[in-house]
Amino acid sequence: MPLDHNGRIRTVKKPTGKGKNVVYWMQGAFRATWSPSLEFAIQAANEEGLPLLVLVVLDLGYPEANYRSFKFFLEGLADVKDGLAKRGIPLHLRKGKFEEILPEYIAGAHTLISDAAYLPAMRAIRDRIYAEAESGIVEVEPNVLVPVRAASDKMEYGAYTIRPKIRRLAPLFQPGFLPREYRGKKLDDVLDFEPSDHRKLLEGQVEFVQPCSIVGGSAQAAKILREFVQDRYRSFAELRGNPAAQAETGLSPYLHFGHISPMQVLEEARGAGGLDGNYEALFEQLVVRRELAHNFTLYASGLGSPFDFIPGWAAETLKAHERDSKDYLYSLGELEEARTHDRFWNAAQTELLNNGKIHNYMRMYWGKKIIEWSETVDEAYRRMVYLNNKYALDGRDPNSYAGIGWCFGLHDRPFVERRIFGKVRYMSDGGLRRKFDMEAYTRRAYGELGVE
Ligand SMILES: Cc1cc2nc3c(=O)[nH]c(=O)nc-3n(C[C@H](O)[C@H](O)[C@H](O)COP(=O)(O)OP(=O)(O)OC[C@H]3O[C@@H](n4cnc5c(N)ncnc54)[C@H](O)[C@@H]3O)c2cc1C
Repeated sequence: MPLDHNGRIRTVKKPTGKGKNVVYWMQGAFRATWSPSLEFAIQAANEEGLPLLVLVVLDLGYPEANYRSFKFFLEGLADVKDGLAKRGIPLHLRKGKFEEILPEYIAGAHTLISDAAYLPAMRAIRDRIYAEAESGIVEVEPNVLVPVRAASDKMEYGAYTIRPKIRRLAPLFQPGFLPREYRGKKLDDVLDFEPSDHRKLLEGQVEFVQPCSIVGGSAQAAKILREFVQDRYRSFAELRGNPAAQAETGLSPYLHFGHISPMQVLEEARGAGGLDGNYEALFEQLVVRRELAHNFTLYASGLGSPFDFIPGWAAETLKAHERDSKDYLYSLGELEEARTHDRFWNAAQTELLNNGKIHNYMRMYWGKKIIEWSETVDEAYRRMVYLNNKYALDGRDPNSYAGIGWCFGLHDRPFVERRIFGKVRYMSDGGLRRKFDMEAYTRRAYGELGVE
């Protein structure tokens, strides 16, 4: 399939020249600025002399979504609605099944433009919809700096193999698409629902998971980014990995829903501090590691079990140690309710339950212990995916599967062989105590949340 804009834009089906409008199906980048997809859609509509409309479908059957994640999503939609209105771009907010609503729009469209997807469930939905389409179909990658297929055409071994490829291509994509002015006709908005009515929309309709205090949307993401750049950025390289410090950006839920673009984060950070060690550290996480995760989910042959994708050495060693005796075995319920003997692990799980996120370092520890406390490798994997995707606002993301996969040896190297883990990296509570002020972390995880 042809690639354009250095691979950012992929033509899935060529337009036939028929059709009355250009439709941008906003499905991964829920924002009205800093979006290559939206800017490309505006450009396409202007060039064809056709009206543009932006379509968002609220499909309450979306895989693994629940009250917590939908509320965050709807908060983001409220910002999309305001942002598009300011730019004079019509919005259709429709409620129903993707497969039922999309064909209605495709039938009349010259071109359907959509955001690329990387996880199998969402790719499968797109493929089914595209197969029936007679309009042009174009996919844009709005949420990565370097388009995933342009960076590499295979599943990469680790950060060390993808890093040079990304670094070489990165200058082509900064700062990204410039904003375009929409010159077409302003069609009427069609609003099946009001995004602010989340109670009415969701109560009794989707699984209830207590929402977090963190609010979704581009405005909130921009505020968090500003605060990060002013306060925490100067110590990012030094303190990011320390769970007792609060040095991280806190942007992963916003990146997951596309409420903010990684290009915007990079530009603001660069503007604040130039290209220093903190910029390098941010680039490493936000671009190299995050885009390695996208590479992984796009090219992995399956995500149902770690044995579908971990390197041979990791699969072999985990299998060899799967029957090793275990000091603790917990039920899923005990894990879910943070009722283990390990105070630090319980603190991490409590963060997840209440804040919708765990500090990165503790997330690694959280995953490693689930391996230690589950009967089998596959059971540990299923539990991690379930807990992460149910409670994490940034869950159901390429990073979710890459992060969980890492606990089983993905993108990592062999270590000294030991019980249960074999040669896969092990983490201990003693290591946490030696490196960090774990009392401060635990106090924060419980105390700040008021549930000690
Ligand atoms: C078991 C496990 C599960 C995870 N599940 C998720 C998940 O569901 N969603 C998710 O976004 N991340 C996940 N991660 C990766 C990482 O923990 C989070 O991205 C990070 O903690 C988010 O916090 P932040 O935005 O403050 O990150 P910062 O440290 O401020 O980093 C900025 C951005 O860089 C990216 N990033 C940071 N660390 C990583 C990493 N290790 N791999 C890939 N990208 C990274 C994220 O997009 C993040 O928002 C998981 C890691 C593990 C070990």
